[in-house]
Amino acid sequence: MIYSLSDLLIQCEDLRRLPWLRHGSTTRLFNPVPGKKNDELKLLADAWGITPAGVLFSHQRHTNNVAFLSRTSCEPHTTSSFIYNNTDAVGTDAENILACIFTADCVPVFLMDTKNRRIMLVHSGWRGALGEISVRALQSLTTYGTDPADVTAWIGPAIGVCCYEVSEKLAGEFLRKFPNFSEAIHGRHLDLKNLNVRQLESCGVRAKNIHVSDYCTKCRNDLFYSYRAGDTSGRILSAAVILPDK
Ligand SMILES: [Zn+2]
Repeated sequence: MIYSLSDLLIQCEDLRRLPWLRHGSTTRLFNPVPGKKNDELKLLADAWGITPAGVLFSHQRHTNNVAFLSRTSCEPHTTSSFIYNNTDAVGTDAENILACIFTADCVPVFLMDTKNRRIMLVHSGWRGALGEISVRALQSLTTYGTDPADVTAWIGPAIGVCCYEVSEKLAGEFLRKFPNFSEAIHGRHLDLKNLNVRQLESCGVRAKNIHVSDYCTKCRNDLFYSYRAGDTSGRILSAAVILPDK
């Protein structure tokens, strides 16, 4: 069977319309047998018909640390792999650099400065949400000159509030830290997607520019890798690249 790109990747409609950007989160069909990261990146580049000048990712550790690879710092290097340790959000304004994060239930957050062409990918599980990594990622973009009003955000496929039950102690910790976001905490069920939405709104991203994938990775384990559904090695690859100006 031959699959089309739309079977292999979930995308945000608003971001898909941007001519300078490629983005998406992979379904299981993209890579039915979990393999090596580099093979997956090559597969994705081929699917998009691009030859990236480099790849940008991190050794994710559920931190709230953010890395930004600026065009100027990238150009003098001859290396093509930009890999950050102990970091859970990676961004760049360099063209043709494939930026990626890997998740299985945690929330992939795409932050795209549509005016200045800066991209950021965030891995936000409960630790990331508690540490407000999406806020820190946005702040990193603003230090390079991004206005939050120019940011389009997409919360990709992740575990839904339906399936994300945590301990009473942890739910209490979220309630104490985010008393204004209580609608994202339903008893012991956390709505991680909504927490990221609220955090982004609280720092100036416009509600109309924040889009959320409805997919719950655990409910739709047929489509996505889900840690809580028992996938220990398969991961959803979320990636974006700024296409070079022709
Ligand atoms: Zn669910």
